[in-house]
Amino acid sequence: MQDRIHNFNAGPAALPLTVLEEIKDSFLNFAGSGMSITEISHRSKWFDDVINDAVERTKRLLKLDDQYKVLFVQGGASMQFCMVPLNFLSNGESADYINTGTWSTKAIKEAQIQNKPITIVASSEDKKFCYIPRDIAFSQDAAYVHLTSNNTIKGTQFASLPDTGKIPMVIDMSSDIMSRPMDMSHIGMIYAGAQKNIGPAGVCMVIIRQDLLDRVPENIPSLLSYATFANKNSMYNTPPCFSIYTIQLVLKWLEETIGGLEKMDAINRQKAGLLYDFLDGSSFYRATAEKGSRSLMNVTFRLPDDGLEKTFVAKAIENHLGGLKGHRSVGGCRASIYNATGIAAVNDLISFMKQFEQTSG
Ligand SMILES: *Cc1c(COP(=O)(O)O)cnc(C)c1O
Repeated sequence: MQDRIHNFNAGPAALPLTVLEEIKDSFLNFAGSGMSITEISHRSKWFDDVINDAVERTKRLLKLDDQYKVLFVQGGASMQFCMVPLNFLSNGESADYINTGTWSTKAIKEAQIQNKPITIVASSEDKKFCYIPRDIAFSQDAAYVHLTSNNTIKGTQFASLPDTGKIPMVIDMSSDIMSRPMDMSHIGMIYAGAQKNIGPAGVCMVIIRQDLLDRVPENIPSLLSYATFANKNSMYNTPPCFSIYTIQLVLKWLEETIGGLEKMDAINRQKAGLLYDFLDGSSFYRATAEKGSRSLMNVTFRLPDDGLEKTFVAKAIENHLGGLKGHRSVGGCRASIYNATGIAAVNDLISFMKQFEQTSG
């Protein structure tokens, strides 16, 4: 087998090596059960311990108070685009949406398909989503404000969240959940497809405040209702046990190996700083997101032409640096540097980029 590469994939993405090793070591006989985690009952004490520990670690890491419930829902982040308006706009209420790229565009579409009244209060589409809109005026009576905290494709991120006053924010944090501490005071709900920063595909973490849960209507399908998940500790039906188990181990790694989200944030800033400083000092590579809007998770950049970008991605893989191709909808290059991608990977990438420029520039 080839050695493991430095993985810059956007999602599914790198997981901490120690987590993968722990899964491997426990795979045939989980916690002394004589069975694999993929074979045990979700109604067993073994799995109860897993899901409860994942919930408790999430609460500790994000310093959530008792108003918040932590849920695990299938259907990915994309299912949330539909569930959010279905659950919170049942009585003719309207919501505000901020459009910062592909994912928020899809979230808007799913609300519109259901004929829910929504207002797009800000958009960065005028400049192909290369920046984060500022100074947004929200509707007085909005039921919630929906936004995407980190735009995985365009490489932009809210450096700080907007002030929505009394209106709760509902945030798609798929690609930056657990990357930094959060001020939860205006946040009604967070959701995140696990496969970017906290686990494998197949599950979406939902963190929801009680007052939003109280708004969920009764006449919607059970599996599309947050109340169902909240009332049954995410086990109304069979949950994706393996994905939740992996999340539990990633959260344990965050708490016990990294030392919490302040520490994680410092490391993430260091990694992104190294890469952006290098890009800004280069006349060969060019970062595509505007300064002040740049993502600490997905660093998007271009080379002088498409042909060089293709060669760059191919040569990078020969050098054990994978996943550097930009999203198919925008082209270019992208280095996703989520929590599990360490500083050594970033340093190796920069060395390779210097070398590539010397031989091809
Ligand atoms: C990847 C991604 C999604 C889609 O996630 P799925 O789990 O594939 O549905 C949604 N929002 C953001 C910000 C993403 O990065």
